[in-house]
Amino acid sequence: MKYASVAVELPINKLFQYSIPAGFQSQIAIGKRVIVPFGQRKIAGYVVGFAEKPEVADVKPIESVPDVFPCFDAGMLRLTQWLSEYYFCPWGEVMKAALPACMRKIPKKPRRTIDSGREETYQRSKPFRLNAEQKQALTLLNKSIEEGKSRVFLLHGITASGKTEIYLQAIVNTLNKGKQAIVLVPEISLTPQARERFEARFGEETALLHSHLTDSQRRQTWERIKSGKANIVIGPRSAIFAPVRDLGLIIVDEEHENSYKQMESPRYHLREVAIKRGELSEAPVLLASATPSLESYYNAQRGEYSLMTLTKRIDDRVLPGVEIVDMRDERSHIFSHYLKQELEKRLERKEQVILFLNRRGFSSFSLCRQCGYVVRCKRCSVSLTYHAGSGNFLCHYCNYEEKPRKICPRCQGGYMRRLGVGTQQVEKEIRKLFPSARVERMDSDTTAARDSHMRIFGAFKRGEIDILLGTQMIAKGLDFPGVTLVGVISADTTLSFPDFRASERTFQLLTQVAGRTGRGALPGKVIIQTHSPEHYAVLAAKKHDYEGFYKEELEFRRQLLYPPFSHLVLLTIAGPKEDVVELSARSVSDAANEVSQGKGIEILGPAPAPLLRIRGKYRWQVILKGEKVTCLHQALASLLEELENRHKMRGVKVIVDVDPAAML
Ligand code: ADP
Ligand code: ZN
Repeated sequence: MKYASVAVELPINKLFQYSIPAGFQSQIAIGKRVIVPFGQRKIAGYVVGFAEKPEVADVKPIESVPDVFPCFDAGMLRLTQWLSEYYFCPWGEVMKAALPACMRKIPKKPRRTIDSGREETYQRSKPFRLNAEQKQALTLLNKSIEEGKSRVFLLHGITASGKTEIYLQAIVNTLNKGKQAIVLVPEISLTPQARERFEARFGEETALLHSHLTDSQRRQTWERIKSGKANIVIGPRSAIFAPVRDLGLIIVDEEHENSYKQMESPRYHLREVAIKRGELSEAPVLLASATPSLESYYNAQRGEYSLMTLTKRIDDRVLPGVEIVDMRDERSHIFSHYLKQELEKRLERKEQVILFLNRRGFSSFSLCRQCGYVVRCKRCSVSLTYHAGSGNFLCHYCNYEEKPRKICPRCQGGYMRRLGVGTQQVEKEIRKLFPSARVERMDSDTTAARDSHMRIFGAFKRGEIDILLGTQMIAKGLDFPGVTLVGVISADTTLSFPDFRASERTFQLLTQVAGRTGRGALPGKVIIQTHSPEHYAVLAAKKHDYEGFYKEELEFRRQLLYPPFSHLVLLTIAGPKEDVVELSARSVSDAANEVSQGKGIEILGPAPAPLLRIRGKYRWQVILKGEKVTCLHQALASLLEELENRHKMRGVKVIVDVDPAAML
């Protein structure tokens, strides 16, 4: 071995060759991190191959080898390479993203694996006796685990049908085979309860990866997984890169969740990566949800995935009755007469209530009643949200803050009004209407502190809170038997989103929030307030009718050839000068049209992005739409090559998003 191919941690889609100095011969291996000279700099990269002969004349030597062990094994190398090719992100960048930042710090001396076995002892919880539907699903899954076959299952189980119990028992089977499992959960707010249930069953064998870990906690957890001390990894999307040795099962809980799509490079969707990792490790992948994504359900219908269904709640508890209140007939814009009445009843009976509104802050915009002027962020094309705590207006995209205005900057009139309800305002209204109720608000403003989720959920579980009010953080996964009323303050915030998935999101969100009630001995009720009571997403949620919603939505997608009938690639052209961005977008669109001739690809745009400006950058979009993702990949590769040679593209960035989750 004289030369190594290195994928460097830079946005360059190319491998570089370096010579291996004699002293490093024994230390260099595939998947190992190396420090290499690059221009005037020293940067990190990963060894991905070897050669006996140099490919170019001037090959520089590897500078140093910081770690004792490779960062990636052969399987992870292939997975990251696939990601790089599928999502058009340089391989080195993918590898950088697959390692937690704390594992990438360069140690002064080579680092050895630290022993960090925890000595806590747990009282283990006992498995439940499964009902017939659960048993059937588990049997199917176990067969795949036994055979060590990669196969994708879609578990469509209504809320509180006992999905988690199936995960737990399937994991037992995986561990019995001497293998490890990865369980993916969407958000940190979900993990307290998931964590309790997994730790209660598996004790110190569980490793929890989440964003609130300190560096040293994260490093320890990573090492525990690597050394095989922890055999069950639970975490958000990045946990799919956990260094388990012998993967036997992957579970994606709430597989429809939007947060599984990474919004920065590499812009991967966890579901796809999980399926790929399952394939490479010959491990079954279980996707599960009460409201599967249209893509997954369509794949199950076509027989690509094996569909398993749970139609009943545990102990035959009934799904809550859902009632829709038409807000066009109401006086108050926060609490309808009916919701207020039902809330009062719950408070009298000492039962718990969850109120949901997908908008934080106090009011979502400030409008001049005289001339219609709306206060907007100076750098982003969004209105500013009033926050009662600071008394200021805040941009939810870039955190820009501004003092409130009494006088309209446009017409100089004194008629500025705050409109659009946010969670803070709902909280204030509750305190006014029900002064003795114990209220807690849960949104990203109140949960910045490390353990705030745990604290709030704990208090709610112990019955110390009467009304839990929150954003989508409280919509999913939580299991509180004492909740008998769920109120959706407004279904309209998601419904009016400029995105072809707006109806799907709304249906999912409403179904998930509705699922938070009626989980105990008492029956539950759900009240949805909306200005669009006749929308099919709202009506299907009222009837708990996934199939009905799926059929209607699928037809809409078929007509417009949207996913699952096609793949999309979203190209965002961004830069500081509006005219340059527009011109470049036209150039991108022209080039896209040229390279996709005869490939069955449709080009949409160029058009200004729905959010034209973010953080001072103007943004235009071009969308490639095609039935075959391989054709899109080919066209995209030619397109990017072509764009590199165009001088018109100076001063702008082209961001590639394959299978985008949002079109903003
Ligand atoms: P889901 O994940 O589908 O929302 P869970 O797994 O949280 O449902 O189950 C709901 C509740 O029922 C939980 O408290 C769980 O412990 C309990 N449970 C699950 N399976 C059984 C079973 N077979 N028998 C009794 N209780 C069960
Ligand atoms: Zn802003």
